[in-house]
This record gives sequence, structure tokens and C-alpha cells, in this order.
Amino acid sequence: MMKTMSGANCNLNVPAKNSYRMVVLGASRVGKSSIVSRFLNGRFEDQYTPTIEDFHRKVYNIRGDMYQLDILDTSGNHPFPAMRRLSILTGDVFILVFSLDNRESFDEVKRLQKQILEVKSCLKNKTKESADLPMVICGNKNDHSEIFRKVRTDEGEDLVSSDENCAYFEVSAKKNTNVDEMFYVLFSMAKLPHEMSPSLHRKISIQYGDTFQQKSFRMRRFKDMDAYGMISPFARRPSVNSDLKYIKSKVLREGQSREREKCTVQ
Ligand code: GDP
Ligand code: MG
Repeated sequence: MMKTMSGANCNLNVPAKNSYRMVVLGASRVGKSSIVSRFLNGRFEDQYTPTIEDFHRKVYNIRGDMYQLDILDTSGNHPFPAMRRLSILTGDVFILVFSLDNRESFDEVKRLQKQILEVKSCLKNKTKESADLPMVICGNKNDHSEIFRKVRTDEGEDLVSSDENCAYFEVSAKKNTNVDEMFYVLFSMAKLPHEMSPSLHRKISIQYGDTFQQKSFRMRRFKDMDAYGMISPFARRPSVNSDLKYIKSKVLREGQSREREKCTVQ
């Protein structure tokens, strides 16, 4: 017999237009998983656990509307380049991480930034697609002494200077410095609700899952905030096939909205 848990098997219906994917890329050991962990549960671990590819899902009820954010925490050295391309194709917002004490990890971020723009512009059939590609470049481990620094702040800033949808932050996942600010700016650039930022919603545990979706949720449970977020406990990385379908539906949706824009401009 299958065990059921309150909320664990609840089916949260999030409209496709409110579903987003955040892809976190960068060399190994730069702190990608630590930044994701700060985002999801506010914790930091000193111990290193290599990531193959972690998938997380957070669902939100923001003033009665449902949103979903999928987070793909990639491995630094991707054994299959085609899989990395696929991850990039499915991404709506990107976090590129390097470690301020590691020059090679900065060079890797430069390569990744280039690859993202290439892959995405190929998808959209454009020559350059920076205008609608929200991306944050993070120099992590800002808590280390300046004597270990291998990348200057102005070098990081140079990577984003020509693109208003791209921002540079020096953060520390360990000390939790600038991490909330980074997410806030990323969501603003992507025109996502600010309340998705870790400090701007109340974190709800799965026991409320069954009622999470209801419009009356906030009235019944909590009155002081109107944004709630819950980590989905059984999220699994979608199959390659689902990823391809997701990309197709996104291209179609974007195509339709471009058509609509054209119509209103004319
Ligand atoms: P990933 O391979 O990019 O996912 O890196 P991890 O998040 O697993 O972190 C690699 C190592 O760096 C771990 O031992 C972390 O504890 C450590 N680390 C991560 N972020 C920071 C940070 O901001 N400052 C310091 N000093 N160490 C960090
Ligand atoms: Mg990792």
C-alpha cells in the first residue's frame, strides 16, 4: 500500500505562464549548491558534496496566484555537452557562479555567458539576444581575505556593462552576504514577483500543501503577509522529452506574444 502524507501528494496547478526555470552554472566547487541551499532553506554547509545535477522546485502563492520556480543546479564539469545545451535551452533566468579566489572559474563564467547567448539566440533566430535574458554573474566566497582574490571587481562588472538584463554581484553563501539582494535583482530583471526572493515570503511547510492553492489560503492561515513559498518535496528532474516539449511550448508562447506586440504597435 502506498503511504500518503498530508500535502505530499497534492497536485498544485500552476499556469504554464507562471512557471519558470532558473539554471545555475559554473565550475566545480565555486559554491553553486551553497547559493541554491541559501535560497531554498537559508542554510550553509562547510562540507563539500559534489553535485551531478540537482533539481528543486519551489511553488508560491502570491496574493492568491500560483507560481512555480524550478531550479537546476548543474555539475561544474558536465560530461555531456548536449545535456548542458539542453539545460541552457530550458532556462528562463541564469545564475553564473565563479569563486573570487579562482581565476579559472572566472574564465569558465566568460565561456558560459558566451555559450548561453549563442544557444539562446539560435533558438530565437536572432543575431543577439541579450534584451530578454535575465542573468546574474556571481563572484562567490567574498568572505575570503582580499589577499586570496584573483578577480578584480571591475573585471566582473565589465562582463555585464553592456546588458541591462545582466548584473554582477560579489556574494558569500557562507556569510549570507548579498545573496538576497542578488535574487531580488534577478527576479526584477526577469519581471517575476519580488516576493519570490527568500526574504519576501513566508516559508510554508508541506503540511499545508493541500490548502496552499486555495485563494482563501492567506485569510485562513496567516494574515501578516500575502506571499508564501513551499519547497516541493518530490520534484524530479523532467525527462529529456519533457524538456524538449517545454522548450517547444515556450517558443510558441513567445512567438505568439511577439505577434501580439506587433499587432498592437501597428
Ligand atoms: P559547487 O560545486 O559549485 O556546487 O560548490 P559547493 O556549493 O558544493 O561548495 C564547494 C565548497 O565551497 C564547499 O566546501 C562549501 O562549503 C564552500 N563554499 C561555498 N560557498 C562559500 C562561500 O561563500 N565562502 C566560503 N568560504 N566557502 C564557500
Ligand atoms: Mg554543486
